[in-house]
Amino acid sequence: MSGVVIIGAGHGGSQLAVSLRDEGYKGAVTLIDADGELPYHKPPLSKTFLKESDARPLPLRPASAYDDRGIERVVGRVTSVDANGRRLKLESGPSLSYEHLVFATGSRNRRLSAWPAAGNVFSVRSLADAHALRIAMAEARRVVIVGGGFIGLEVAAAIRSTGRDVVVLETADRVLRRVAAADTSAAIAAVLEDMNVDLITGARILDVVSKGERITALETDRGRVACDLVVVGIGADADSDLARAAAVAADNGVLVDEALRAALPGVWAIGDVANVASPQTGTRLRIESVQNATDQARHVAKSIATSKVTPYQAVPWFWSDIGPAKLQIVGLSAGSTERIVRGEPGRLAVYHLRGAELVAVETVGNPAEHILARRLLAASVNPTAEQIRLGPEALRGLISL
Ligand SMILES: Cc1cc2nc3c(=O)[nH]c(=O)nc-3n(C[C@H](O)[C@H](O)[C@H](O)COP(=O)(O)OP(=O)(O)OC[C@H]3O[C@@H](n4cnc5c(N)ncnc54)[C@H](O)[C@@H]3O)c2cc1C
Repeated sequence: MSGVVIIGAGHGGSQLAVSLRDEGYKGAVTLIDADGELPYHKPPLSKTFLKESDARPLPLRPASAYDDRGIERVVGRVTSVDANGRRLKLESGPSLSYEHLVFATGSRNRRLSAWPAAGNVFSVRSLADAHALRIAMAEARRVVIVGGGFIGLEVAAAIRSTGRDVVVLETADRVLRRVAAADTSAAIAAVLEDMNVDLITGARILDVVSKGERITALETDRGRVACDLVVVGIGADADSDLARAAAVAADNGVLVDEALRAALPGVWAIGDVANVASPQTGTRLRIESVQNATDQARHVAKSIATSKVTPYQAVPWFWSDIGPAKLQIVGLSAGSTERIVRGEPGRLAVYHLRGAELVAVETVGNPAEHILARRLLAASVNPTAEQIRLGPEALRGLISL
């Protein structure tokens, strides 16, 4: 039986492969991905990549980082896993055996399945998606973005900065409703409105108007919105079909314990696809962020390399660049009971408390306070509401104590 096989060479899989070696793992490491590119950064695809017609993918690390560590990279789609026999099959080529199997398959964009097939509807997940969108943008003057979440708003700002008219349609009463406090949403909405992005919230799409294979307008309860290109950004689902077909328990992602182990021996999951029993919250958490994927990868690498299994408990953090605004979030605000807001929309900090416990901090245009908040949460420092209102200086004092 040979070494570690990693399915998916995105942010998590790539990190896991190199971390295994850096932790001293001596067995075979095989990193498989259906995407033929050298593993690349995903975040720029909805940001700079769309603004600059000659922008190229940014590799996560050079090919030598894998080659020099003796990591075998395989390009191909894994089509089935026999988790009991510890073997997997690729679309083509021989089957592979493993001692440890790590699902790092990421997530898949949700689609609007009720819509007719159309040649001018896009979403962004992979480099190929972003390329296709960028090519289509050349012919487009008016773009509609369906969904006012992180990716929808990033794409809206990026396309607007190329001079095209952009309308965002969001069903909820504010953008970023699922992920951020109202003050944060308002700050980001203000930035987009300054860029002349047309934000329509509380809008329901009733019908699509097509001409041939193209959508020319969306009929909404707020009126008809004409378009020559549509980008759908309505969230993502864990890519766990392969795991489920192999009888690895999955529900909103591969179900893993606090150490990121699935219910079958030798099977692990990391990143977007991992639905983790969190020791911090006592609930299950599936997080879509670069930090989550890479920190979980480092954790599993250490567990496999040292054969010492410990709970994963990093404090999650996330960023999103929406036009000129940098939004950063650390911690988890779900269940918070008090919110303390400081600053103004362009330089904002929103602290979430659950009882006396600091659970999350959102900042806009305020990276120094984000870093400070990360230190507070990592050290489990719980400032009082009064100390938070006093500002960063008072909070810094609490850490150095
Ligand atoms: C456009 C975009 C912008 C983003 N911006 C940000 C941001 O600003 N900040 C942030 O923190 N996060 C951002 N994210 C989220 C972040 O990129 C993801 O959370 C992160 O990539 C998750 O890493 P992962 O390793 O779990 O999955 P991924 O990086 O998505 O990698 C999964 C890989 O698995 C491969 N795969 C799947 N199934 C198979 C199979 N059967 N066989 C072989 N290969 C397979 C896929 O091809 C893919 O390469 C963004 C995501 C996108 C799409």
